[in-house]
Amino acid sequence: MGLPPFDEPLTTGAGRDAGERSSLEASTPLARLLAGNQRFAAGRPRYGHDVNAPRARTAEHRPWALVIGCLDSRVPPEAVFDQDFGDIVVVRTGGHVLDDAGLGSVEFCVSAFGVPLVVVLGHQYCGAVTATVRALDSGVRPGGLTDRLVDEIAPAVDRSGDADPAERVEEAIDRHVARTVAKVSELRLVAERVAAGALEVVGARYQVETGQVRVLGR
Ligand SMILES: [Zn+2]
Repeated sequence: MGLPPFDEPLTTGAGRDAGERSSLEASTPLARLLAGNQRFAAGRPRYGHDVNAPRARTAEHRPWALVIGCLDSRVPPEAVFDQDFGDIVVVRTGGHVLDDAGLGSVEFCVSAFGVPLVVVLGHQYCGAVTATVRALDSGVRPGGLTDRLVDEIAPAVDRSGDADPAERVEEAIDRHVARTVAKVSELRLVAERVAAGALEVVGARYQVETGQVRVLGR
C-alpha cells in the first residue's frame, strides 16, 4: 500500500527557516520519525492534541510506522516522535516484552496497514529492566505475572562480572532492545517483508534526560 506524502506542508508553528523545513520533510519513514524527535527534543513540536486531527481521519487511517515501546509514562511514542493522529501505531508493554498478543498485534500492523517500518524503542531509566537486574541480584522475583517480564528481560542482563548495577541496567536496556528486534524479525510475515525490501525493523533508545532518540546498532 502506498505511503502518505512526506512533503506535506507545515500548517502550524512559527519561525522555521528553509533549512529546518527541509530537514522536516524527510524522505524515509525512519528519517521522518527522527525528524519528529528532533522537533520534540528541541521543544518545537508540530502536533498537539487537536480534536480536529482525529476527526479528519474518521474514514480511514494509514499509519506508516509501528513503534513497540515500554509502558513508561515518560515515553509516549506519539509525543517523542512528534507525530499526529493516524501516523503511527503503537504497541506498549512493560519493558516492551511481547507475548502472543503483542506479536499478533505486530503481525496485524504489518499485514493490515503494510507499515514499512517497525521501531523497538527502549529507554533510559527503564523500571522493568531495573527490576530485572534487582531480581537477579537478590534472587527475589517480584511474583505473580510480573515474573514473566523478568524472565523475558533476564537474558539481556550481564551476570558475569562485578559491574555496577546501574551500568548493567544501561547495557541491558540496549541488549534487550536487540533481543526484541530479533524476536519480531523471526515472525514469518516480518521476515518475508524484510527479505522483500518492504519492511525495516530497527532498535532505538530514548534518553529521558534529553528527549532524544538514538538508533542502535548503526
Ligand atoms: Zn521501561
